[in-house]
Amino acid sequence: MHTRRGTGCGDAIDHIERVAYFRPMAKMPIVTLPDPILRKVSSPIERVDDDLLRLADDMLETMYAAPGVGLAAVQVGVLRRLVVLDVAGEEEEPEPLVFINPEIVTLGSETRLHEEGCLSIPDFRVEIERPASLTLSYIDRDGNPRELDAEGLLATAIQHEVNHLDGKLIIDFLSPLKRDMVVRKFKKQARATT
Ligand SMILES: [Zn+2]
Repeated sequence: MHTRRGTGCGDAIDHIERVAYFRPMAKMPIVTLPDPILRKVSSPIERVDDDLLRLADDMLETMYAAPGVGLAAVQVGVLRRLVVLDVAGEEEEPEPLVFINPEIVTLGSETRLHEEGCLSIPDFRVEIERPASLTLSYIDRDGNPRELDAEGLLATAIQHEVNHLDGKLIIDFLSPLKRDMVVRKFKKQARATT
């Protein structure tokens, strides 16, 4: 590394900042059932800063690699109200979405049935009936409050991810008996792999 005398630690600080700025996106490990963090309520985000945007980019990278259509911060072990989504089809251009402090303001009266999976519950799917449309309020990447009307798969995925921020999972839509069976299966798997 090239160093100059006489400039003190200024150089070192510049160097660290430059490294951080050019740091590529990174894939993060996804937390799976029965990790208790998945049941915790995530805290609101008070400031949109570089660290938060970097986390959002890392979450997008992690989601695309999985692959999945949505990911909440709790699923990478961070209890903050941050969600990323992309419901564009395989043939379409990617449409990455970042929602900070997302809040569902209104839900439509019609419902939509969709077989949902969850990156935190591998190889498990369940048909869930949810409102087919909604209005979401959130903070965008620039720190501005926004509203979005969503329907179809996007509305389903938003509800799924906002559930995560409140510690709610798709297995909660099952009967208690079926839910226990799924949880038991994952506990057994976790014991077998550790
Ligand atoms: Zn999920």
